[in-house]
Amino acid sequence: MKKQLVFVGGGHAHLTALFRIRDYVDRGHRVTVVSSSAYQYYSGMGPGMLSGIYRPQDIRFHIRKMVEDRGGDFVEDRVTGIRPQQRSLLLSSGKSIGYDAVSFNTGSEVSDPSAGAGEGTVFTVKPIINLLRAKSAIEQGIRQKSLRIVVVGGGPAGVEMTGNVWRLVRDLGGRAEITLAAGSRILHALPDRVRTLAMASYLSRGINILEGRRVRSVEDERVVFDDNTSQAFDIALVATGVRPSALFREAGLPVGPDGALLVNSHLQSTAYPEIFGGGDCISLEGHKLPKVGVYAVRENMILFNNLMATLEGGALETFIPQKQYMLIFNLGNSRGILWRGKFIWHGRTAFLLKDYIDRKFMKTFQVSGEQLE
Ligand SMILES: Cc1cc2nc3c(=O)[nH]c(=O)nc-3n(C[C@H](O)[C@H](O)[C@H](O)COP(=O)(O)OP(=O)(O)OC[C@H]3O[C@@H](n4cnc5c(N)ncnc54)[C@H](O)[C@@H]3O)c2cc1C
Repeated sequence: MKKQLVFVGGGHAHLTALFRIRDYVDRGHRVTVVSSSAYQYYSGMGPGMLSGIYRPQDIRFHIRKMVEDRGGDFVEDRVTGIRPQQRSLLLSSGKSIGYDAVSFNTGSEVSDPSAGAGEGTVFTVKPIINLLRAKSAIEQGIRQKSLRIVVVGGGPAGVEMTGNVWRLVRDLGGRAEITLAAGSRILHALPDRVRTLAMASYLSRGINILEGRRVRSVEDERVVFDDNTSQAFDIALVATGVRPSALFREAGLPVGPDGALLVNSHLQSTAYPEIFGGGDCISLEGHKLPKVGVYAVRENMILFNNLMATLEGGALETFIPQKQYMLIFNLGNSRGILWRGKFIWHGRTAFLLKDYIDRKFMKTFQVSGEQLE
């Protein structure tokens, strides 16, 4: 019997299923994708887009086209409510959509200490499209004066952003004072050697690194620290960690400690077997996984198969998260830091490896010309 399958969000964990929508459609199912944007930007290359290493079309998938060309319906809208008992979703447009099976890949949001201050001068690093807006603000501002640019957050995203802001300023031939307000310590969750390498690279390029002070708020033209000192800026980028949206908690669905959709090893809600999810918006029962795209990518095939099994009948596959994963940080000077467990490697080759892996990932799901429109 024909069933309604809905995907919410065109994120990194849904790409295989969206790319293979025809497999569901050919079996007689109706597939609808609701996403707040027709494009999905690949976050791993976001910092490189900020500096100009990549063009926007190099790092995005045209989700709408991918879906419609394969027989699915695409709805550009936000899901604002879930009614699990009625099996329906509420959209910000006021419409609702019913489902027999649904999968969420709605990502996460930056906890923004600016509370909306500084429109046009303060940019959160998610959604990734904001980096394009920040780039344009820097390009315009630097034509007029030397800029004070502050990056708030000393985690991997903040560190990558800082190095790539440096590259953008250099390539524009402009002048800027760049400050990384790193909170307690830059890259505090990573081994000391990674931290030391990043520090050395940035200090040698004249970038200021502030540690031991947390940012309390981001106001119109200054960040205020918890010791009541402040730092003035013309442009600020905010990368202060992420949290899933309140969607799941508000719907009364079981959630993990951070409010993400609680799923079992089949990536299936622990309360509603027809609800699935992947990427940053889930909390995997029995695990505390960091919010990195590596897991979202690995969840692709499990979601594709388990949604098919839910529609057609069949055994569900199990997602086993890898114990170790590799991250490579793009430092913006054509060098990277590769970190995998105890293995740490710094230099040009590390960046080239990241570039190769990222471009290969893009090629897997970008169909010629689709992303250019
Ligand atoms: C600057 C930066 C660099 C990073 N680099 C790396 C890296 O190199 N390697 C790595 O492993 N991780 C990296 N990460 C972490 C990585 O970004 C996340 O883990 C990854 O984006 C999670 O993917 P996702 O598909 O869950 O979410 P997202 O990529 O955020 O996708 C969410 C999707 O859902 C849609 N959406 C959201 N809410 C709704 C709604 N209510 N209704 C409908 N649609 C909705 C959005 O439009 C989007 O399509 C980086 C993060 C940042 C910020």
